[in-house]
Amino acid sequence: MERGNKARIKGQRVSRKPAVEKPAITAVDAASQGQPSAGAGGPIKWSREADVVVIGAGATGLPAAIAAREAGAEVIVVEACLDIGGHAITSGGHIPLGGGTSAQKKAGIQDSPDLLFQDLTDWSVVQPNGFPDYRYNDRQIIRAFADNSASVFEWLVAHGVVFIDKGPDGFGGMSVGNSCMREMHAAAMDWPWVQTGRPVDPAIRTITPTGNGLMRPLEAAAKKAGVQILLEHRMVSIYRESRNGGRVLGITADHKGAKLNIMARKAVIIATGGSTGNVNFRRMFDPRLTGEYCGLAGMPWSDQDASGEIAAMTIGASLWGLYNQTGEFGSNVTKPGTVGCQYNYRNLRWFPGSPVFHLARATGLFVTDWQDLILVNMIGKRFYDECADQYTANNAGDIDPYAPCSYLNARSVTYNPPNFINAALAGIGDGENGGGPIWAIFDTDAVAREEWNPAPPNVDVEQGFFFSAPTLRELAAGIVMKYQRIPMPPVNLDETVTRYNSFVDAGKDVDFGKPAPKYRIARPPFYAAWATPVIHDTRAGLRINAECQVQDMAGEVIPGLYCGGESAGGFGQHGLARAICQGYMAGRHAAG
Ligand SMILES: Cc1cc2nc3c(=O)[nH]c(=O)nc-3n(C[C@H](O)[C@H](O)[C@H](O)COP(=O)(O)OP(=O)(O)OC[C@H]3O[C@@H](n4cnc5c(N)ncnc54)[C@H](O)[C@@H]3O)c2cc1C
Repeated sequence: MERGNKARIKGQRVSRKPAVEKPAITAVDAASQGQPSAGAGGPIKWSREADVVVIGAGATGLPAAIAAREAGAEVIVVEACLDIGGHAITSGGHIPLGGGTSAQKKAGIQDSPDLLFQDLTDWSVVQPNGFPDYRYNDRQIIRAFADNSASVFEWLVAHGVVFIDKGPDGFGGMSVGNSCMREMHAAAMDWPWVQTGRPVDPAIRTITPTGNGLMRPLEAAAKKAGVQILLEHRMVSIYRESRNGGRVLGITADHKGAKLNIMARKAVIIATGGSTGNVNFRRMFDPRLTGEYCGLAGMPWSDQDASGEIAAMTIGASLWGLYNQTGEFGSNVTKPGTVGCQYNYRNLRWFPGSPVFHLARATGLFVTDWQDLILVNMIGKRFYDECADQYTANNAGDIDPYAPCSYLNARSVTYNPPNFINAALAGIGDGENGGGPIWAIFDTDAVAREEWNPAPPNVDVEQGFFFSAPTLRELAAGIVMKYQRIPMPPVNLDETVTRYNSFVDAGKDVDFGKPAPKYRIARPPFYAAWATPVIHDTRAGLRINAECQVQDMAGEVIPGLYCGGESAGGFGQHGLARAICQGYMAGRHAAG
């Protein structure tokens, strides 16, 4: 369809302009960049063109596209997936835009761009494990966010996003600043929920927060403004006049195996959502994060495959703010919320009816009480208190009393490092990287207490994320799956459960200090359910300036290349606010 000059994409009319040929870069140049070209030695054949080409239709991409279009640019968005939304549409829709929004004013909350900037650069804020949330943020990037944050909130409202009608709070926030409440919540309204395929109950549609309530209105606004959205178009490379020089010219996208070149007359905006789904890329930050961490939050709706970062680095872009990716705070790596399925992020469950349920395969068993099970590593040994939690992150009022940028704040922190994740990632001591699979082990009594139904589609038996057996030894012996690189010794699991049961009898866990272990694991059948930690945020990426222009190692702007959201570096905050804000800023600047 993309090869012709007349095409309709999701009901939109696409430019009838003939395929254009521009001699700015030749196929030889492209080949030397390791990029696909239109034909050996000839000029690149551009199948389409626009002023601004946005890569990715998520929290950064759609605001970028709308802002650019409304600033007068012709805009094409390419999206790798079958539908728009990215991780943002699977999100909780909790959005910490502050600096003096109308919602803050209505609630009597005093905030300002200066206060927001001070909060997000406060070196003195540290977590109970000593990791600082804000110290390594790039001042210019934060200044731009602080100055635009309030107006972007009003812009969202003007573009159809309905927020739950209550004052800002701290719910769902992470690294959003200690001084005041900023978190607002996009209401589900009647947009179908991607997790179920159905709208939420009309009775609660105005009080239920979801990412659908953010992304579907933005999709509608983009289409209304005349943005062309090309679904199932995956950017595979970005053209620049030469590898390390000149301006960016356009992209190559893959559409169902066919390649097409899209010229960007003014700019390309990378809004591809980060890198944590790319095992080799993420291991540059943390070598422990090997392949078994396969349940990335937000998948299987969309991936974070580092394609934006890699394409930009190929033409000279630099990375930036890398500490934020390895800092042990927030949801960079999370404890799972469900067990027995691959995609087990605590705030995202897939149900039959979801358009991607065939990829998710199971809903998972949501754990309400971690006393109901033990967690063992690949060789059947416990490694930590199962009730312990993941890293923490700063939100309004967490440090009390709080004196901005004062060393005295450290006195208000109770140091109690949350090390569950580190223990899970520690491995089995065989010299290999990666913690290996973590299994939740429980019995039939636990199933009753949790009111679980341990059968498909709740659990993924077929792909080896859930096992059951009449004895513990048979259970261990039966655990065979892709990431279980060493068989679990049956005697280990048997001994682990026997020892744990003795802790229950004694009321004390002398190995890991689980508070008063409650339940013996004794009644067959026994179960082993996938409970491996989940990777979530990307908090480091391409080097950008305050205008979201991508820079090279020398700090020189790569003309015509922009980036925002999880693919951009220098801003260690979780989530939507920075993505939306940077998308908006990038779109406006790129169009200008
Ligand atoms: C379950 C879950 C809950 C969350 N809840 C919250 C929350 O309540 N509040 C909050 O602040 N944050 C939340 N987040 C985080 C937030 O959703 C993300 O930080 C945000 O969506 C990042 O925006 P982005 O534009 O960088 O990436 P995304 O929104 O993921 O968009 C990236 C898009 O680019 C596309 N893409 C990638 N590569 C290519 C390519 N090569 N070619 C074409 N397209 C490509 C992807 O398919 C995707 O659609 C949550 C995340 C998850 C997964």
